[in-house]
Amino acid sequence: MSRAVDVVVVGGGVLGLATARAILLADPRRSVTVLEKESRWGAHQSGHNSNVIHSGLYYRPGSLKARLARAGGEAMIRYCERQDVPVRRTGKIVVATAEKQLPRLELLAERGQANGVTVRRLDRREIAEREPNVAGIAALAIAETAMTDFGAVCRALAGELTGLGATLRTNAPALSFAGEGDRTVVRTEDEEVRARVLVNCAGLHSDVVARAAGDHPTVRIMPFRGEYTEVRPGRRDVVSNPVYPVPDPDLPFLGVHVTPMLDGSVHVGPNAVPAFAREGYRWRDVDRRLLAQLARDPALRGLARRYWRYGLTEMAHSLVWRLYVREVRKLVPTLNGEDLRRHGSGVRAQAVRDDGELVDDFVIDRTARAIHVLNAPSPAATSSLHIGAHIAADVFEHLGENDLARAVRADTAAA
Ligand SMILES: Cc1cc2nc3c(=O)[nH]c(=O)nc-3n(C[C@H](O)[C@H](O)[C@H](O)COP(=O)(O)OP(=O)(O)OC[C@H]3O[C@@H](n4cnc5c(N)ncnc54)[C@H](O)[C@@H]3O)c2cc1C
Repeated sequence: MSRAVDVVVVGGGVLGLATARAILLADPRRSVTVLEKESRWGAHQSGHNSNVIHSGLYYRPGSLKARLARAGGEAMIRYCERQDVPVRRTGKIVVATAEKQLPRLELLAERGQANGVTVRRLDRREIAEREPNVAGIAALAIAETAMTDFGAVCRALAGELTGLGATLRTNAPALSFAGEGDRTVVRTEDEEVRARVLVNCAGLHSDVVARAAGDHPTVRIMPFRGEYTEVRPGRRDVVSNPVYPVPDPDLPFLGVHVTPMLDGSVHVGPNAVPAFAREGYRWRDVDRRLLAQLARDPALRGLARRYWRYGLTEMAHSLVWRLYVREVRKLVPTLNGEDLRRHGSGVRAQAVRDDGELVDDFVIDRTARAIHVLNAPSPAATSSLHIGAHIAADVFEHLGENDLARAVRADTAAA
């Protein structure tokens, strides 16, 4: 079967679904198909993350992350409330545990304020009042943080899309791409979709999809696993709200945090270790082809040169339980090894430049027939409704609907 559509979205994670929704909300006459290779929505990053709706604290003012996180987070909270998706405003604290972290904590406070986040400085006594089990010499309290369930957000988006007339396909990997005039022909096992615009939201596979579609992405995806542990039920009162360490400013990761989830469980993590497969949720998941490809890639050498110390430390903490527990205890000294047990992981689709630099900001590339989302790490789930609208505006420009594109951008800016 062959069908002509306006837009085909490859990837049914939170970004692909939010993009399809934004297109159809702005123009319900458009035909939009979403292809997802798994049997359910949000099967990878969107269903394996910390479920934190971030405030916009960390991001370089003026970056896409900063522009889309603060307002995107508020939009996500309102969306969850409207759709009956679990959500709770919890706030969080970012805690310095050593003197040498204080300048970085102060920089973070300034960044947060520049991004419109409400930041309150806490001293040792105030930390102890809020979180008696946490060891900190200074902290920032952030009011805007919230918790949700991004898997449930994906299901709500898919439900809404059905009502909006989208064609939704699960178990439908996009297998090949070919140009045909001004269209891209996307083949699945069962059908051929001829689209005026291809939107690539394939997450861990987004660079593969971009190349298969005939484009030349400037970055490659390297999978970084984030492993979690869970606090045993008897110690779930160890923190009352999310507690974060001061992050390393040279890395796009936030550091291992302690997070009370909405179901009452308390998660610790995620760390960041290299994964040996794009969907490498365990050390034993190894994709030899990916490894051979990376071994030939000069970016890997650049990456190793830049981040070897951090990488080795994270791997040691992952593999040696005693070292992991020691690290967690820097933040929460009352937690012991017996209080924690391993509890799954997620794999980040992290873009890396040719010289091995980990890309910090979102990367959304536009080419003649496609829009490729090539870096959408945290807080992309938080900002997904706004990123979806941003991509929808790009789609309308592709379709020659410049007024509509401007209207979508203006609406997003005002939201
Ligand atoms: C450990 C971890 C913790 C995180 N914590 C947070 C957090 O607390 N807050 C936050 O805002 N963000 C967080 N993030 C980031 C967030 O999860 C991602 O930014 C977001 O989920 C990205 O969504 P996506 O739709 O781009 O990717 P994904 O959810 O990975 O979706 C991509 C989809 O494309 C599909 N696909 C791939 N190739 C094909 C193909 N050829 N054909 C069809 N389908 C295909 C995949 O099966 C997948 O479902 C975290 C991420 C991780 C890994």
